[in-house]
Amino acid sequence: MKVRAVERQQIEADLHRAVRKQEFVVHYQPKVNLRTGAICGTEALVRWQHPNRGLTTPAGFIAVAEECGLISRIDRWVVHEACRQTRRWQESGLPRIPVSVNVSAVELLNEDFVSNIGDILTATRLDPEYLEIELTESSLMAHAETTPSTLSRLKEMGVRLAIDDFGTGYSNLSYLNQFPIDALKIDKSFIHQITPGLNGAPIVSAVINMAKSLHHRVIAEGVETVAQLDFLLAEDCGEGQGFYFSKPVVAEQLAQMIATRPTWASP
Ligand code: C2E
Ligand code: MG
Ligand code: MG
Repeated sequence: MKVRAVERQQIEADLHRAVRKQEFVVHYQPKVNLRTGAICGTEALVRWQHPNRGLTTPAGFIAVAEECGLISRIDRWVVHEACRQTRRWQESGLPRIPVSVNVSAVELLNEDFVSNIGDILTATRLDPEYLEIELTESSLMAHAETTPSTLSRLKEMGVRLAIDDFGTGYSNLSYLNQFPIDALKIDKSFIHQITPGLNGAPIVSAVINMAKSLHHRVIAEGVETVAQLDFLLAEDCGEGQGFYFSKPVVAEQLAQMIATRPTWASP
């Protein structure tokens, strides 16, 4: 426990420096329209370029950043960077596609959250319809009383909203119906239960059908195999994201991908 406490303290101290010195980078993973096989969006995923530890994924620092109050600054930087990059791609003549950003539950309690998003859209001149904010199911439910008004203000602004990791949190389905959201992302743990020959994915089918009834888009996370893709196509799932298509990559690589317009239609 002592070792862990010391390590946590070290991460916290390093994070303060990282925020000051801008040690973060954004990687982007394409989202694919499963019917056409074309890229229909990107997800911005933060990485920390640590001077000694190298490139670190969020699992190693987001929780500490939330605990020590640095997450708002990190999230704000990521949203700004993702909007700036997306606008830049649009200006360079690439097909216009939206970017999704992940926002911590802590932001739902931050009074300035909505106005910060508005300021970023103004500063980067990105049309709000090209920004989608992903909030996890558990963070939405944790602040279920105040969440609807925050979400409504974002919707009025023209921003799109998605529920991330759907199916893993405690979800009160009546709230789900009240939230003005656009999309559900099925958590990858359910997608990984799709295996050839086994009909082990009733939750995936159920979530796809539920999303359709609620008139929400549905995105499958963590698609890794052709068997998973075939199942999702048969279930008429709209969008997919995962290593089968591409890992998260640096902005230049993603721009190349958008420019060459690859398609991943099922064989
Ligand atoms: P998420 O938003 O659900 O993002 C999807 C995660 O799954 C990413 O991990 C991505 O690299 C990984 N992934 C994508 N395709 C596959 C696949 O086919 N198989 C497997 N096994 N994994 C796949 P990553 O980048 O490590 O991010 C983890 C989580 O950290 C994210 O989950 C999100 O909740 C959080 N996160 C990432 N960026 C930010 C950020 O800027 N702010 C905040 N607050 N959280 C962030
Ligand atoms: Mg996400
Ligand atoms: Mg997720």
